[in-house]
Amino acid sequence: TKTVRLVLGDQLNANHSWYKQKDHSVLYVIAELKQETEYVVHHVQKVCAFFAAMENLASALNKAGHKVLYLTLDQTRHFTNLNQLITDLVNHYQSDKFEYQLPDEFRLRQQLQQIAKQLPCVTSCAQTEHFFLADDELGRYFTAGKSHRMEAFYRKMRKRFAILMEGDEPVGGKWNFDANNRNKLKARDLADIPQPLMFANPVADILARLKRHEIKTLGQAQEQLLWPVNRQQALELLEYFCQQCLPKFGYFQDAMTCQADTLIDKKQWSLYHSRLSFALNTKMLSPRLVIDKALAAYNHADISIAQIEGFIRQILGWREFVRGVYWANMPSYQNMNFLQANNQLPEWFWHGQTKMNCMRHAIEQSLEYAYAHHIQRLMVTGNFCLIAGIHPDQVDAWYLGIYIDAIEWVELPNTRGMSQFADGGIVGSKAYAASGNYINKMTDYCKSCHYQVKESIGENACPLNALYWHFMLTHQQNFSSNPRNKMVYANWHKTAEDKRQQIIARAQALLTDLNDI
Ligand code: FAD
Ligand code: SF4
Repeated sequence: TKTVRLVLGDQLNANHSWYKQKDHSVLYVIAELKQETEYVVHHVQKVCAFFAAMENLASALNKAGHKVLYLTLDQTRHFTNLNQLITDLVNHYQSDKFEYQLPDEFRLRQQLQQIAKQLPCVTSCAQTEHFFLADDELGRYFTAGKSHRMEAFYRKMRKRFAILMEGDEPVGGKWNFDANNRNKLKARDLADIPQPLMFANPVADILARLKRHEIKTLGQAQEQLLWPVNRQQALELLEYFCQQCLPKFGYFQDAMTCQADTLIDKKQWSLYHSRLSFALNTKMLSPRLVIDKALAAYNHADISIAQIEGFIRQILGWREFVRGVYWANMPSYQNMNFLQANNQLPEWFWHGQTKMNCMRHAIEQSLEYAYAHHIQRLMVTGNFCLIAGIHPDQVDAWYLGIYIDAIEWVELPNTRGMSQFADGGIVGSKAYAASGNYINKMTDYCKSCHYQVKESIGENACPLNALYWHFMLTHQQNFSSNPRNKMVYANWHKTAEDKRQQIIARAQALLTDLNDI
């Protein structure tokens, strides 16, 4: 072996130019590593999905005639980290070259640069060939510390890649159909929600390995893993999305319901969402292919512009945008705490046992499937952490662990930035803080909740109400200059003085024991 090429767990792009030629002097190494299971406690389905998808790429490359070494945890257990493993492999095979693809996480990029410096052979780093924007282009769009707005970036991307454009004009005459995304699911809509396409990948061997090596995980294990773990399955999921979900994707993009679980069929938990994030983030699918297939479906079927635009905005807009923000601002981004939030994450985030129906639903679903859709993450769990002033390190650790798609480059700007406002407005123009009123307006959770959504004071009052006011008052200095908050503070001052005091007292009581709500 002349060249050792490392493929990381989120670099499962079978169409990479590395594989265009077969060369028996090149050895591809794909390895399960303890260090990757330990930097945060992950959901057990997430670890299984990564390992299964890595194994599948290894066997696909092998079948295609490449030389591949797949190392399980059993074989890598003697190496304390990636540095040791690579050094050992290069020495063992007496390689004169080590190559890797540019990691998408800051942590791994640093580590590989360091490894490359130490090795006794030539090293080189290739692009992953995955994103719309190449790594060296990010600097043209993003500046450290600067507030960036997704909408402006998204328009540039639409123009540059000529997606949903008619000449210089956006198809449909508008760039953004966001206003059409905010529909509530009514009782009559529930029966139409598609059943999510779920696979049944056998992962008992992987689960046994995790047990053997005492890997700490969270969430519910499945011996038949529902997530796509090879390109074929990823393509099937994409096709299913285009046929079944895209026609109403934009329409119900922000909707949440607990009735789909309880009244109709538990299997409708992902609504019209694609659940493609794992396939995308592991690079089994490219964003280009996902967009091309969705556009083809839009062109051939009766799908309105609001549906397709809503979807394209997520992939071409948000996904590329948060990556740009991440790289412009790392490593300082991971320590930002603009609002100086310092409280502990309540225990029930790890098991879901809270009387708050909205929280219980989002957390239990996350533990069961390693998945929650965007608005559950932003406006349910994220909003709670924001208004309860939970330390962003703890919020990050939870999000980075629990979700099937959580990789730091995409998790961090969404959690610390968009949801917790800990970056002081680099990603979003305002803190997404809401009281129970928002949940009540957008969902059906409140009807069956222990708490009363219309109340702010008293034992049975919705905790979000008092916490919301407490949060808005604590940060009045930061928020009052935003014109969107003028009404909020005006309403507060219209409230009778004694009621105001009672609301604040209720919030303080809640904050002294967040584990008990
Ligand atoms: P769909 O609703 O079907 O959307 C399609 C695709 O658009 C997604 O697969 C995803 O690739 C992309 N997308 C949508 N919104 C975003 C966004 N805000 N940022 C980046 N890409 C987006 N996404 C992750 O991939 N990994 C994370 O760790 C992650 N953490 C998040 C944490 C918080 C607090 C919030 C608010 C959002 C987070 N997101 C994260 C973004 C988003 O919630 C998920 O991408 C989405 O829920 C995945 O489900 P889906 O594939 O069904 O998405
Ligand atoms: Fe959530 Fe409050 Fe509604 Fe209960 S009443 S579901 S806690 S918003």
